[in-house]
Amino acid sequence: MIVLLGLVLIGGGAVGAAAELPIYQVRVAENLARLSISVCRSVDMPHRFALEDTKHARALRNVTYGARRLGARRGRVKVPAAEPGCLSYDFEISRVWEERRASVLRMGSDLLASPAAWLLAPVDEVPFEVHFALPSGVQVSAPWQPLDDALRRYRVEPSPTGWQPIVAFGRFEQFPIELPGGRLDVAVLDGQPRADVAQVRDWVEAAARHVTLAYGSFPVPRAQVVIVPVVGLDAWGGRGTEDAVPFARVLRRGGIAAQFFVNQIAPLDSYLSDWTATHEFSHMLLPYVSQSDAWLSEGFASYYQNVLRARAGVLTEEVAWRKLHEGFSPGTPRRLSGHPRRIRSLPRSQHDHAYVLEWCRDRATRRCGTARTLWGRAESGYRAAATPGLLPAVEPHLVGNGTIRPIG
Ligand SMILES: [Zn+2]
Repeated sequence: MIVLLGLVLIGGGAVGAAAELPIYQVRVAENLARLSISVCRSVDMPHRFALEDTKHARALRNVTYGARRLGARRGRVKVPAAEPGCLSYDFEISRVWEERRASVLRMGSDLLASPAAWLLAPVDEVPFEVHFALPSGVQVSAPWQPLDDALRRYRVEPSPTGWQPIVAFGRFEQFPIELPGGRLDVAVLDGQPRADVAQVRDWVEAAARHVTLAYGSFPVPRAQVVIVPVVGLDAWGGRGTEDAVPFARVLRRGGIAAQFFVNQIAPLDSYLSDWTATHEFSHMLLPYVSQSDAWLSEGFASYYQNVLRARAGVLTEEVAWRKLHEGFSPGTPRRLSGHPRRIRSLPRSQHDHAYVLEWCRDRATRRCGTARTLWGRAESGYRAAATPGLLPAVEPHLVGNGTIRPIG
């Protein structure tokens, strides 16, 4: 009871503090050509702001603090700490460097714009909120924690750095998929031709349900899912579209998200037999793991993409076991170049297994020993059905900062 009371008091304090969070108001122009942003602060709030990705800093215009005009050199702004006031600015999409558009991209009639490029966020990482004012019919998709059902107001917590988060704006289809223990908010961006939304829903839900078979519930309470159709996309150049899902990734900055680049003209069957979505959602079973320990997160997801599809009945047990064995067997790396960059050019089906094995071959033997021990245990456990999965073997070796403690 005392503990409970303590929690209530702490909770009450947190709610009180929430009123003092910086709140960004983001007005989106009708034609998605401009974001107009303002954030008001009291004297005890941060006074230094910066873009995380400064490549597009020239798109910052009309930067003011109250009546004062400010410069935003190199995407950094400092306002007088002792003066309360409102910082306002525009982000002009037309002024984004054409050749550097990786974080700000037009997708047909929709816009992908990483907040790293347009949000002058507090330099001292503190929680804040972002509230959007959108033209009629325009939606927003963001990885942050939603504060309303309309997905227009979000809370942003400090989070691991790394690949930049995605925010999408446009008149795209967005729908929730409710799962045991969690929810996906899926945005299907514009394409030439447009993707079949019902098909996307069936495929994403099936893969997400595979991952609930690990422990009975989806591993995170909410994830943003962004579907980017690539057929007909100039930037993609038609590469890799023989697969249903030529490329996908999980993003952690700002909240958990998965981004899938899809061949929107592939039939539903080819999506349902593709392993990519099960693999990506399996990444969410682990907390953030740093890139230098990617052998663990990639190996982990590669393990579960087979185990969970077998549990779901998509693969027979024999096929799943063969795929696992082929992926982790010592013979595989000889066919591969020793350089990680080369790995990226391999077919997707070999990519993640190769990552684990190459890491093992090229780097410190101690971690390599950890990898071999873990996969060895996982394989024999799976074979003997003695352990329910890999996570119990991995958990004792995760430490708080996203790195791995070697097995002694
Ligand atoms: Zn992966």
